[in-house]
Amino acid sequence: PSEDYENLRRRIYSNTKELWYYISHELGKAIRDENKIEKLQAVLDQVADRKRSLLSDQEKLPELDGYHEWRQMEAANVSDLIQRRLRHLQNPPDCREARKLICNLNKGCGFGCQLHHIVYCLIFAYATERTLILNSKGWRYNTKGWDYVFYPLSDSCTSAYGDKVLQWPVTYDAKVVSLPFIDSISQKPKFLPLAIPKDLAHRIVRFNGDPASWWVGQMLKYILKPRPSMQKSINETMAKMNFKTPIVGVHIRRTDKVGTEAAFHHIHEYMAHVKDYYDQLELTRTVDVRRVYLATDDPNVLVDARSKYPSYQFLGDESVAKTAATHRRYTPLSLAGLLLDLHMLAMCDYIVCTFSSQVGRVAYEMMQTNRVDASNSFFSLDDIYYFGGQNAHDRIAVLPHSPDHNQDISLEVGDLIGIAGNHWNGYGRGTNKRSNMNGLIPWYKTADHLVLYPFPEYKQVPL
Ligand code: GDP
Repeated sequence: PSEDYENLRRRIYSNTKELWYYISHELGKAIRDENKIEKLQAVLDQVADRKRSLLSDQEKLPELDGYHEWRQMEAANVSDLIQRRLRHLQNPPDCREARKLICNLNKGCGFGCQLHHIVYCLIFAYATERTLILNSKGWRYNTKGWDYVFYPLSDSCTSAYGDKVLQWPVTYDAKVVSLPFIDSISQKPKFLPLAIPKDLAHRIVRFNGDPASWWVGQMLKYILKPRPSMQKSINETMAKMNFKTPIVGVHIRRTDKVGTEAAFHHIHEYMAHVKDYYDQLELTRTVDVRRVYLATDDPNVLVDARSKYPSYQFLGDESVAKTAATHRRYTPLSLAGLLLDLHMLAMCDYIVCTFSSQVGRVAYEMMQTNRVDASNSFFSLDDIYYFGGQNAHDRIAVLPHSPDHNQDISLEVGDLIGIAGNHWNGYGRGTNKRSNMNGLIPWYKTADHLVLYPFPEYKQVPL
């Protein structure tokens, strides 16, 4: 199918949801204001059912348009190409002579944040054609280092041999360069997320609706290769869990995050989306058990969920959640629990989470590598997808808009809008880069603006 067809199909899907966000928000308000509660509630239920039917039908489109298998093959091929390019980059013929990039894993943050740090380093390496050397001595999740839990990023080149190391940014083409944390870079290179490689972009958009996260997922696929002992422990716990589809993954991030970096979200908020997922699924098939895989860093959440939602079956382990709680977090045991949770979340049919958490975003990125297109398989209660430290994320106006209430801003077709977020009520917030006005924008009048960067094309690696 053409790029235009794919983009249009996704636009219809996304804007059907936008319509729903708008109606449910407005009617929800009216219900609280007025006496016509029953009438309005019936309208709301009707519209909800119609929305589910519309989305359900549209989800069948890519299965029926004759390109289903082609997309699967293309996704596998492009993924394979990227993995081979990374292997090529990471295993230079002469390690001693190779240009290198040093990445220090000593970032004082959680595992999701550290993974994203390595992703940033690997994208940097890929963009500058340098072999990435990961320094992980004294790593907070396992003092013995990264290579004790995961396979190293290279089979043949893991040290800079005591060559002189210069801190990036460098003024000349130094042999070994060390990277700062992404947060402390002042002049951000254009190849950082959410940019994707220009030479692959037109292939990726033909099978995936969110190429930026798919690209990040490809980096994770290369980085995250558990050693057999870790893989075995994941597999064993999984076998004990009775993991079966259909299943919805829920990630509830509490403890130290709440009130500092994210707002508190009640279990009801997550479960409303789980219910909606299953209500839609039941339009086309019978669901014997409504399963939920619940990952959290707060063991009370599991107890609470089970008592409040007895008709759902919750998979998840309180002991894993206990080791994830702030005071027991930075240990090999807690890492094993988190890997299990990430792996399971990524295998679910759908995830409900908060993208303010790097755990939620990593789970989605991993999900993107598990299937052809996971871009419609999640709901984030707060942020839209982002990569910490990313370059500006813009949307482009595809329909004109004249303000019709006092908080929205005007749009001309082609305007770029720097995006702050989607409010999931039909509107998002952003700054129009043409007019410099900041305000609400009707989401459906905009489309995602993909940034293509001319990364090296690794011609030595066969297509
Ligand atoms: P963020 O703080 O949520 O953005 O994500 P980080 O990964 O940077 O730090 C949170 C840390 O808390 C994780 O790395 C885990 O150690 C722990 N954690 C958070 N949520 C979960 C969860 O659902 N399961 C497990 N096992 N650990 C979690």
